[in-house]
Amino acid sequence: MVKPLIAGNWKMNTTIQEGAELVVKLRELIKGVDTVEVVIAPPFTSIHHLNFLIADSPMTLAAQDVFWEDRGAYTGEVSPWMLKDVGCRYVIIGHSERRQFFHETDETVNKKVFASLKAGIKPIVCIGETLEERERGETLERVSSQLRGALNGVGEGLLRDIVIAYEPVWAIGTGRTATPEQAEEVHNSLRQLLYELYGMEPVRDVRIIYGGSVKPDNIDSLMAQPNIDGALVGGASLKAEDFARIVKFRHV
Ligand code: PEP
Repeated sequence: MVKPLIAGNWKMNTTIQEGAELVVKLRELIKGVDTVEVVIAPPFTSIHHLNFLIADSPMTLAAQDVFWEDRGAYTGEVSPWMLKDVGCRYVIIGHSERRQFFHETDETVNKKVFASLKAGIKPIVCIGETLEERERGETLERVSSQLRGALNGVGEGLLRDIVIAYEPVWAIGTGRTATPEQAEEVHNSLRQLLYELYGMEPVRDVRIIYGGSVKPDNIDSLMAQPNIDGALVGGASLKAEDFARIVKFRHV
C-alpha cells in the first residue's frame, strides 16, 4: 500500500499573513498525522515564509507551476532549482487552469516534468477531460493521451517520484464532483495504461490522486475506491477545518 497523498492547491489566494494563519491552524488540527502525506501549494510569494512554519509538522510544500530551464533570460519564470532552494518537495504541473489560461500543452508539461525530476522535485501532473469530451464519450481517450504526453521519455526509474492527478475539468471549482465510480473508472484505466507502458513493478508505488470539488462530505467515499490514492483539493484547502477533515479521511 502506498501512502495516500492529500494536497491543497491554494491557487492565487492568500497573503503571507493569511497563509501563515492557515498553516498555524492546520498544524494544530493535523498534529500527529503520519499515515497520509500532506502537501500544501501556496502562491510563490508565501513559500519561503511558510517553509519555516511547517517545520515539525506533517506538511510539505509544493509550488503551483515551474519553468523548465535552470536559469536565464526568462522574465517572470521560476526554475525547479529555485523551488528546491526555497523548500519545495513537489510541484503541480499542467493544472487545467494553466492549460486553459496560459496555453500549457502536453509538450510543455513533459518538459516541466523532466526539469523537475532532474532537480529532485516531485511533479504532481494534472490531467482531465472537459465536459464536452465526457459527453462525447472521449474521457478515457483524452486522459490517456495526456498521460502519455506528460510521461513521454520518462524512464521507469523516475516513475515513483511522479504523482498523477486526475481532475475532470467540469468538476474543478464547480461544486460538481465526479462520483466515486466515475473517478474509479478513470483511475483504473490510467493504472492499466501505466502497467502497459512500464510493467507492474515500477507502477506499484505511483499515486493517482483525484481532484475536483473534493470536500469533507465526499472524501471518504472517494478514498474508499481501490485506485484512488489521495486528493488534490482546491477551494476546501483554504479552510483549515475542511482541509484537516479531508486529510483525516475515514475508510468507509
Ligand atoms: C484544483 O484546483 O485542483 C481543484 C480540484 O479545485 P476544487 O477542489 O476547488 O474543485
